Amino acid sequence: MLDVLYDYKRAGQLLRAGGRDAARRDLFRFLPVLPVAGPGPVMPAGATPLVQAPRLAARLGLRALYLKDESRNPTGVLKDRATAIAVSMAAAMGRRDLYCASAGNAAISLAGFCAHAGFACHVFVPATAGPEQLAWLRRYTADVRVVDGSYDDAYDEAERVGLDRAWYSRNCAFNPYLVEGKKTAALEIAEQLGWSVPDVVAAPVGDGCTLGAIGKGFRELVEMGITARTPRLVGAQAAAVQPLVTRHLGQRPAPPSSKQTTGAQTTRAHSIAVRRPRNALRVLAEVAASEGTLVAVADDRIAEAQVLLEREGGIAAELASAASLAALLGPAAEMLPEGGTAVIVVTAGRRT
Ligand SMILES: *Cc1c(COP(=O)(O)O)cnc(C)c1O
Repeated sequence: MLDVLYDYKRAGQLLRAGGRDAARRDLFRFLPVLPVAGPGPVMPAGATPLVQAPRLAARLGLRALYLKDESRNPTGVLKDRATAIAVSMAAAMGRRDLYCASAGNAAISLAGFCAHAGFACHVFVPATAGPEQLAWLRRYTADVRVVDGSYDDAYDEAERVGLDRAWYSRNCAFNPYLVEGKKTAALEIAEQLGWSVPDVVAAPVGDGCTLGAIGKGFRELVEMGITARTPRLVGAQAAAVQPLVTRHLGQRPAPPSSKQTTGAQTTRAHSIAVRRPRNALRVLAEVAASEGTLVAVADDRIAEAQVLLEREGGIAAELASAASLAALLGPAAEMLPEGGTAVIVVTAGRRT
């Protein structure tokens, strides 16, 4: 994985001088720290609300807890931020075919944006993809290729075919520009808190692109002299599929075996069920630099957190998205200072 760097002194000046295009409410307001000259033919991604959740804050012993509600993106997921960059870059390069591998949300996001732009969308989905997800891809008229195997197999197949056909890659762990879109979630959180940062930011972790990107965003704000510090990052994985937690703890991960795909070794939090995380180095480095942690939570705890988000937060989140609240209520509770502040990134809304 490559990393995109900027002239941070100049970018900081531009952002502080109101270089953020005030007429534009979406993520392209942060153009000085984006790898594109301007937005392409995209739906507006980002500019999602930061919703205060006082009932959940009380439960966690916090002064304030905020939900960064990414379900308010065009296709209902944080992944739209990366897709907006992918479509913009593809358009600038004159490419009209985009592809990705996905168990669900990334593919649906790409399919929606391609439908809107009139581009061709090729998605490689694992055999386990649910009928609901396939239905969404068909609604958006995507070219759906079901790969016999897991998400990891679909990923390998996507990169093989995509490279061969010279399609534009919307695989976040392959195309370094996409993380730049996701990092804008962090820039917005700081902006919405009056250019300050919370003590903790928690997000669910699959490949590691999302939390890694958020860490990069917060570090860049410090580098630009806009904020004084970075929050601690808390990453949540499902107990049944927790390779990054294992690596964070310094243990050697057990090699993925076919046995792991059955019985107790599966999770219903499909969006984070990644056995071979493609952006491991990035997320592990960002979590360590932030003095944060990666923790695992059982499906039952995630399901309880999903219900709590509805009952006490008013937000209908996808199951995987609730893993962060489960982490803060459980194994990552010690990261929360008494009377402190935290943000939970609600990465996706419920589709059904
Ligand atoms: C993709 C996804 C994640 C995890 O993102 P990674 O970049 O794979 O770590 C978390 N929650 C939801 C809902 C997602 O779709």
